[in-house]
Amino acid sequence: QCVLVCPTGALTERQNIAEVIDAINNPEIVTVAQIAPSISVSIASEFGMKATKDINGIIYAALRKIGFDYVFDTSVAADISSHEMAQELLDRKENGESIPMLSSCCPAWVKFVEQWYPNRINLLSAVKSPQQIMGSLVRNYFSKTVGINPSNIFSVSIMPCLAKKFEAQREEMTTRGLSDVDSVISTRELVRLIKLYGIDMQNIETQHADKPFNIRSSAGKLFGISGGAAEAIARMIYFRITSKELVDKNIKEERIGSGVKAFSFKAAGHQFRFAIVNGLKNIHEIIGEVLKPENEIDFVEVMACPGGCVNGGGQPFTMDEKSVKQRAKIIAEIDEADGIKCAAKNPSVHAVYEEFLEDVGSEKSKKFLYTRYSPRDVLL
Ligand code: SF4
Repeated sequence: QCVLVCPTGALTERQNIAEVIDAINNPEIVTVAQIAPSISVSIASEFGMKATKDINGIIYAALRKIGFDYVFDTSVAADISSHEMAQELLDRKENGESIPMLSSCCPAWVKFVEQWYPNRINLLSAVKSPQQIMGSLVRNYFSKTVGINPSNIFSVSIMPCLAKKFEAQREEMTTRGLSDVDSVISTRELVRLIKLYGIDMQNIETQHADKPFNIRSSAGKLFGISGGAAEAIARMIYFRITSKELVDKNIKEERIGSGVKAFSFKAAGHQFRFAIVNGLKNIHEIIGEVLKPENEIDFVEVMACPGGCVNGGGQPFTMDEKSVKQRAKIIAEIDEADGIKCAAKNPSVHAVYEEFLEDVGSEKSKKFLYTRYSPRDVLL
């Protein structure tokens, strides 16, 4: 397993710290940061703390000390994406079209489909990734709630991933001519930024994210690990159909074909089967497998990095498989202990729908949270 290579094929890591500092220093600009689910479990050891420590609240406090005006949790956008993707899958299943639905939260995977499977682009979920959903909501909803001109916001996302820098620059990821996200910095750049500002991470009071994107479900946090998005969407679908929470005993785990991990569950007589693809190794063979009609797969989650975003190309360098597993374990423990395990029960998300989006799959949701993909030359 190699953690040094960005799955998008980027040869060098583009640095964005300078433009972020420029924005922070500009009094005319309102700076907003969002933090991806996997960041808080990956960097404690960089600041002399136990590697197993989840430092979410410490990172919020550090970002405010650096000068960000608002800090948000991308896991809340992941919860919104669970609402939308669950509905999209239910609609496709009912209409018998574009099944299995392929996940679209990993931009390296999306680009791979555009390049190598252009005739399967219709299978990709049209819902934007959590990074882009948060960016779009910051620009088009949050800006109104605080009375800021959307073009005066500099929106920064802190991601485990170099492919996210590419995703933020896609021309599809704009609304009314403004990019959803202005700048993406990797976890490694965040560590450098915090050190540059001399923040003492061991002696800082933890803080919370800002409203309206401050409460997440643990399902939103699960997006940081392989299988997590599939589980979050399964929980959402089950809740939508039964008004009850999906628990382990309702889930049947299995392997299909050459060993792809899959699980199935029933909700009020409806059967669902999800496949999880962990990394792009042997991907052509796997795609053939999950698309076979006899496997009856409804949804396929693909994460380009083995283990998922906890092992992203922008995370602190480690050749140690153990530390990647440790990061995944912390996220699993957060989920285990959390009181809100399903996006359907997230009050922050309810408020966003009530105040702005109106309903799941509404015209507004489609306008601000959905996108389209198109065939791409293999060399681009
Ligand atoms: Fe980025 Fe996560 Fe995809 Fe890796 S798995 S490329 S970190 S989105």
